Amino acid sequence: MSKTISINAGSSSLKWQLYLMPQEQVLAKGLIERIGLKDSISTVKFDGRSEQQILDITDHTQAVRILLDDLKRFDIIQSYDEITGVGHRVVAGGEHFKDSALVTEEVIQQVEELSLLAPLHNPANAAGIRAFREILPDITSVLVFDTSFHTSMPEKAYRYPLPSKYYTENKVRKYGAHGTSHEYVAQEAAKVLGKPIEELKLITCHIGNGASITAVDKGLSVDTSMGFTPLGGVMMGTRTGDIDPAIIPYLMLHTDDFSSPEDISHVLNRESGLKGVSGNSSDMRDIESAMEAGDHDATLAFDIFVDRIQKYIGQYFAVLNGADAIIFTAGIGENSDLVREAVISGLSWFGCDIEPAKNVRGAEGVISTPEAKVKVLVIPTDEELVIAREVERFKNQ
Ligand code: ADP
Repeated sequence: MSKTISINAGSSSLKWQLYLMPQEQVLAKGLIERIGLKDSISTVKFDGRSEQQILDITDHTQAVRILLDDLKRFDIIQSYDEITGVGHRVVAGGEHFKDSALVTEEVIQQVEELSLLAPLHNPANAAGIRAFREILPDITSVLVFDTSFHTSMPEKAYRYPLPSKYYTENKVRKYGAHGTSHEYVAQEAAKVLGKPIEELKLITCHIGNGASITAVDKGLSVDTSMGFTPLGGVMMGTRTGDIDPAIIPYLMLHTDDFSSPEDISHVLNRESGLKGVSGNSSDMRDIESAMEAGDHDATLAFDIFVDRIQKYIGQYFAVLNGADAIIFTAGIGENSDLVREAVISGLSWFGCDIEPAKNVRGAEGVISTPEAKVKVLVIPTDEELVIAREVERFKNQ
């Protein structure tokens, strides 16, 4: 029996989950926030308890030390020897990482070089990887890339109609994101539907604060809505999703908000989406309550959000030439019966029909009517578990 940690490091945070493997039992989980700032917060949850401490954590190495100390302090482990594996989520794997990879110095350097494609995420991921390598150098350490699942996309889907030199010289192409989630829910959906995944055409909708939709044919990603970066695709909590690119030079000429690349990135990534249109919040729960109270802008934000999801699903019916099932997952996909109902009610011509009694909060599994040609499912995602399983796979190789 061994213990494996799944790590998801952000620029100022480190989310972790400790598993007993191969039982896949969660022993503890936690979150360290505000790394690099004053009053960082470390929360540990185990055995129904939640413990929090506030202290100054300067970097990811210190965050990893604190997390490991906490595991001993709360008797979750007796010694570090019990931890035999660690899996790290990495956001950008570029074209190189078509599969998860064992950590070596060369691999870490490649992750750092790929920071060009994910400047907020990859440096943080690399810092987390280095921290574990320093403190626990002998355990099996595996990197799991958000982009690997999408490396099966055909060239016509991942290339943009730009001059080719921007692909060959600058690597501008679609990479997608949320790959572990799309792959996991597609496989779980196949189990629920009782069919081999090789016989299924699926449209997976990962709708959280970040959101992406993927066309999965025979278990392989053939197209996905996020693009060169996680800004593309459907509307999100604070991100635009797809917009006419000509809007950017126009606003650069006619406003003061778009004078540098950072300004542009800030508005499109952080000030747009549900937050920008509602003028209120990026959180779907707030949008739904404001909508209930009759707020026009919140209603408009909801309507655009639903519209963009429907249009991507429509595209992927075309890409796949039909689909067997649509799967909802992540914060909004799993919890918002309102969003699911609004999306699916506009797709009845395609053979989608939700059963209202099944489309409730906390629903899991099939929520469509027995007659519906296209099944609709809710499958809770579990990216941490996928990462822990990847560590096991490498251990057993
Ligand atoms: P992230 O991309 O940050 O991982 P999550 O998958 O956690 O995001 O999703 C966060 C989103 O899920 C937020 O917009 C939140 O409002 C929404 N959400 C969570 N619970 C509910 C709920 N009960 N009803 C509607 N939306 C919900």
